[in-house]
Amino acid sequence: MNRTSSAPIAQQHLVDCHLCPHHCGAARASAHGVCRVGQTTYIASEMLHMGEEEPLRPAHAIFFSGCTATCAFCTAAKFAFRPTYGVAVSPAQLAARITHRQLEGARSICFIGGDPAPHIPFILATLDELGDRRGIPAVLNSNFYLTGEALDLLEGAIDIYLPDLKFGPATSAQSCGERIGGMPDYWAVVTSCIDRVYQRGERLIVRHLLMPGHFDCCTVPVLHWLATRPGIDVSLLTQYLAPAHAKGELAQPLAQADVNRAQALATQLNLTLVA
Ligand code: SF4
Repeated sequence: MNRTSSAPIAQQHLVDCHLCPHHCGAARASAHGVCRVGQTTYIASEMLHMGEEEPLRPAHAIFFSGCTATCAFCTAAKFAFRPTYGVAVSPAQLAARITHRQLEGARSICFIGGDPAPHIPFILATLDELGDRRGIPAVLNSNFYLTGEALDLLEGAIDIYLPDLKFGPATSAQSCGERIGGMPDYWAVVTSCIDRVYQRGERLIVRHLLMPGHFDCCTVPVLHWLATRPGIDVSLLTQYLAPAHAKGELAQPLAQADVNRAQALATQLNLTLVA
C-alpha cells in the first residue's frame, strides 16, 4: 500500500496512551490503565474463521488479549479481562502468520479482541512488516470506543471497519453503555467515531448484538440511527448466549419475539443487512 505509515507516531501511545476515551496517559508502561494492557501485545488465539460476515470469510481472525470495556455479559472474559493471556508476539511474527493464513485461503485480516484499540501501535507495525497485502483487506473489529486520534492513526491502514454499536443513548442517569459496558459517554463517543469513518467514505459494517431486555433502550435507537446513514451495511447478531456470570435481564435467553421485531424494524427502515 502506498501510504505514509502512522506506526512511528502510534508508538507514543505505548508511553502516554490516549487511544480510547479513558485517557490513561502514561499508564501503559506499568499496565495500570483501565484496560491493563502493557507495552507487549498478547494474542489469545488466531485462526481461519467462518463466523464473520460473508464479505470477510474465511477470515484470519486475530484475538488480542485485553479490552477497554468491561461488558457484564462478555463471553470472551478469559482473555478480554486478562491482558497477558496467550502468547506474546512481535509484529514480524504476526506478519509471518498472516502470510501463512493467506496461503491457506484467508480473504481478510480481522483484528479482534477483547478489543484491538490498545494494540493499534502493534497493528500498524504489523501491517508495515507485512507490506503488500495482495488485495486482502485489513479489518478492525472493535467496540469503537476510540479517540479521534486513534481513528486518524488507522486511516489508510484499515480497509474495513466493523464497529459494534451495542448500546443506545442514555434513558436514565446512567446509560446501558456505562452501566453494563463500563464506557462513560458511550453513545456520543461510538456514534461520533462511526460518523468520522463514514464521512471519510470508508467501508463500514456495523454490528448490533441483540441483548435480552434491551430492545426498546438499545435496538430501536441503534437501528433508527443507522437508517439515517445510507451506505452503511448492518449485521444483526442474534446469537446472544448468557455466560454463567451474567446477572439480571442479561442472564435470560434472547426472546425469539425480539429477534423477529428487530428484523422487521430493519426491513421497515430499509437497512442493508449482511450476514
Ligand atoms: S487503550 Fe487502555 S491504556 Fe490506553 S487509554 Fe484506553 S484503557 Fe487506557
